[in-house]
Amino acid sequence: MNVLVINCGSSSLKFQLIQSDTEDVLAKGLCERIGIEGSRIVYTPAGKDKITIESPMPDHTNAIKLVLNCLTDETNGVVKSLSEIHAVGHRVVHGGEKFASSVVVNDEVMKAIEECSNLAPLHNPANLLGISVCKELMPGVPQVAVFDTAFHQTMPPKAYLYGLPYEAYTEDKIRRYGFHGTSHSYVSKRVAEMLGKKPEDLKTIVCHLGNGSSICAVNQGKCVDTTMGLTPLAGLLMGTRCGDIDPSILEFYAQKHNLDVYQVTDILNKKSGVLGISGVSSDFRDVEEAADAGNERCKYALDAFKYQVAKFIGGYAAAMNGVDVIVFTAGVGENSATTRQGVCDYLGYLGITIDAEANGKRGEEIEITTADSKVKVFVVPTNEELMIARDTVALTK
Ligand code: AMP
Repeated sequence: MNVLVINCGSSSLKFQLIQSDTEDVLAKGLCERIGIEGSRIVYTPAGKDKITIESPMPDHTNAIKLVLNCLTDETNGVVKSLSEIHAVGHRVVHGGEKFASSVVVNDEVMKAIEECSNLAPLHNPANLLGISVCKELMPGVPQVAVFDTAFHQTMPPKAYLYGLPYEAYTEDKIRRYGFHGTSHSYVSKRVAEMLGKKPEDLKTIVCHLGNGSSICAVNQGKCVDTTMGLTPLAGLLMGTRCGDIDPSILEFYAQKHNLDVYQVTDILNKKSGVLGISGVSSDFRDVEEAADAGNERCKYALDAFKYQVAKFIGGYAAAMNGVDVIVFTAGVGENSATTRQGVCDYLGYLGITIDAEANGKRGEEIEITTADSKVKVFVVPTNEELMIARDTVALTK
């Protein structure tokens, strides 16, 4: 079965066509600047060089048409016709409390996703648009929605309730939802496989450290806590997001600089985190380079990040009454040996000893602890697209 995986943002769209029996990626690509001048598609058929096509994409319908044209193109296409695309899996950011797992899309599901839009106003409308356009261009092909929040729906009330008036939860749905669920789910299952164990027999902490970062405590295969909250702004400080801060800072900052709540929230989302502290970049590579060259603020930013990761790991080990395995994933988690080492330097009390040579490797599935380490630490590259394709197959085959 060939599954088209779509991750639709407001002005960009990532896609992969996956053959589900072999789990091979037949082609992948990215549409950029949809609705903006200078739009282009970068398309890579398996085994060939990437092709960049500059083409106007005034809206998502044009973008998806272009994707389908690339996939069925006589020279660089990977299927002969659209009839060889058997299902489409869509990443949907927010499923609220309604969706604890992936679902085949119907009118009722579309309406429910729309109802969650106030919880993710930047993402859900774009995700819905992607689904609508695919339904229109590929009538009769089943569409599946895979939610970033779904894996976290097993959290108990003590983990998802905020210390707010209870009506904030019951009436306004304000609670911890968590994000990156598809990644946490994939990585926690994959590390169990690598250990030759069932997820049910493990206490796992997954550190998804990228531009956006979150940590998830997975006990017996189920999420019991995670760092992101009502929105992805919570938890760790990230590339540009502040993470957990004293909520009074909002009013203090607004008054001090004569800003409104939207302006301060914009600062918390886009000008804070590693970028905010370092003043150099949100990209860990730049910040690591500047820190190595002696930039103090870059050192503070990286130190604060590692310190926060270690604190959450400690908290989650307590929450689960132990931990068997810690996994690093996503751009920073997979590639930054110094971040992994720096985090693990705090974790000696758990009996963790890092194998420096293994930790020096980049972007591959590997155990980075020594044989006698009491808690195992792994690097597992995430694969959200594969997880979306697997769910799509499971629901439509
Ligand atoms: P993601 O959001 O998962 O794509 O991760 C993006 C982040 O990964 C960026 O901050 C990159 O700087 C970081 N990253 C990628 N490669 C490396 C590397 N070799 N060393 C440190 N950080 C990296």
